[in-house]
Amino acid sequence: MSDTNNETEKAGNFIRNIIQQDLDSGKHTKVQTRFPPEPNGYLHIGHAKSICINFGLAEDFGGDCNLRFDDTNPEKEDEEYVQSIEEDVRWLGYTWSNLCHASDYFQRLYDYAVELIKQGKAYVDSLSPEQIREYRGTLTEPGRESPDRNRSIEDNLDLFARMRAGEFDDGQYCLRARIDMASPNINMRDPVLYRIKKVHHQRTGDDWPIYPMYDYTHCLSDAIEGITHSLCTLEFEDHRPLYDWVLDQLQTPCHPQQIEFARLQLKYTITSKRKLNQLVTDGHVDGWDDPRMPTISGLRRRGFTPASIRDFCDRIGVTKKDSFIEMAVLENSVREDLNESALRVMGVLRPLKVTIENYPDDQVEQMTAQNHPQKPEMGERQVPFSKVIYIEQDDFMEDAPKKFFRLSQGREVRLRYAYYVTCTDVIKNDEGEVVELICRYDPESRGGSTPDGRKVKGTIHWVSAQHAINANINLYDRLFTHPNPGGTDNFIEHLNPESLVQLQGCKLEPSLAEAKNETHYQFERTGYFIKDSKAQSLTFNRTVTLRDTWAKIDKANQNTN
Ligand code: ATP
Ligand code: MG
Repeated sequence: MSDTNNETEKAGNFIRNIIQQDLDSGKHTKVQTRFPPEPNGYLHIGHAKSICINFGLAEDFGGDCNLRFDDTNPEKEDEEYVQSIEEDVRWLGYTWSNLCHASDYFQRLYDYAVELIKQGKAYVDSLSPEQIREYRGTLTEPGRESPDRNRSIEDNLDLFARMRAGEFDDGQYCLRARIDMASPNINMRDPVLYRIKKVHHQRTGDDWPIYPMYDYTHCLSDAIEGITHSLCTLEFEDHRPLYDWVLDQLQTPCHPQQIEFARLQLKYTITSKRKLNQLVTDGHVDGWDDPRMPTISGLRRRGFTPASIRDFCDRIGVTKKDSFIEMAVLENSVREDLNESALRVMGVLRPLKVTIENYPDDQVEQMTAQNHPQKPEMGERQVPFSKVIYIEQDDFMEDAPKKFFRLSQGREVRLRYAYYVTCTDVIKNDEGEVVELICRYDPESRGGSTPDGRKVKGTIHWVSAQHAINANINLYDRLFTHPNPGGTDNFIEHLNPESLVQLQGCKLEPSLAEAKNETHYQFERTGYFIKDSKAQSLTFNRTVTLRDTWAKIDKANQNTN
């Protein structure tokens, strides 16, 4: 194994090591983690990493993992998102021990806030959100104290109760922690704990006119659920002192340890729900599950398997350092998985008609084809062969160079599972384009060899014209042309106009008429495909090509840069 792999492995163990030490020392007897999405969008591949870490570690140590909806921003949240998140976690193969909601704890969070006020550790502030920002100071300058900072405990209790009773308008008051306006960590400069928001909540209805902030909610929700290790992404590192501060002031059931790891960032795509939402609402893609989206539902519709996504998360490991991962790593995971499991079939993407002039007009032969050449246990099927077939346009070339081992006038190829054919003539349309080939077949070559041991270099796939079924095929490419679209001023500008190519009139072998939504296929020589679960007429989506077509291009770019 190379050095970099070793490093990833060592780094990948850092959370595991902490957990192991905690179990060895008796600090904990059971591991309890949680995956805490905000239901304001569909989950993406970055969330898959967090899911694999949280559920995976709990599983490995015989512990439990909760699915917790962090539902404290009602205006951005939606039941549709809740449903999709549950479905995606289940699809990835994980089972939560408890389904929780931060909103389940609204009363307890409120009681804890009252406790902080009684301790003189929180106060009601009448500064506007803009003023609070202005008073906060900067990285180089300390903040200024709010005039309300020294309000009496009684007044604070009274005002907070009236905030809760709905007496005030949005933004009129807020509750702030009383920590340190001069702290070098801006998160500790009297952060807001509660704001007034007269918004209907999907679960608590109109019960609450005030909603708790993320930093206040998260640590307490973790403590209430008995979380042992609260795993989150690196941007929360600076929030950890606040996480610990809140728990240190209050008598909570436990004090979880927050541990941060690097976010997953994939090249040529975006992992931010807000930006993905924009792609959906502005119609740049066909919904959250558009197969070009890096969402779990998009990847599923594209034909990725749960195993391939878990394997990908394993490979990238868990580190403390932000980095960009090549899309090829994700694609290789699914390629490897499907190479093992996908049924082999024949499908012609861009058909060219071939008439075999010496083949009997009305004859049909059933050719035995293997469902997986390396796995006889996957069985065989019969593929009909007849006088007129379709081959791939790419598999024919006029005046071909010597190294072209497919069809050309006077050259012979093997038709997969069938006969040797030689091209004798071509038929062109008025524009001079080849529209049909005339071939002759060798009746002795059925099954792929001839009595005289004649060798042919090329084997091509085909579909019998009278038996073929018609289908549409979607071919996908990167959604963006920029390696880090999220880091640019306007990521929309970098959408790849060729990210989707839709082919119509593709010709597939008849067995595919019964294709099931969840069956993965390898169309021999052209890639891995899955039936589109939403299309009206028979449509297949290409999950990935058989080889990494970008590897060469990326390499060439690196060399010129
Ligand atoms: P987004 O910016 O896409 O909305 P988020 O972090 O706000 O992401 P949450 O719903 O709050 O999304 O995330 C739930 C969990 O998933 C959090 O613990 C978060 O740290 C983790 N997570 C989100 N994005 C990534 C990522 N790219 N890589 C790893 N973990 C992630
Ligand atoms: Mg968030």
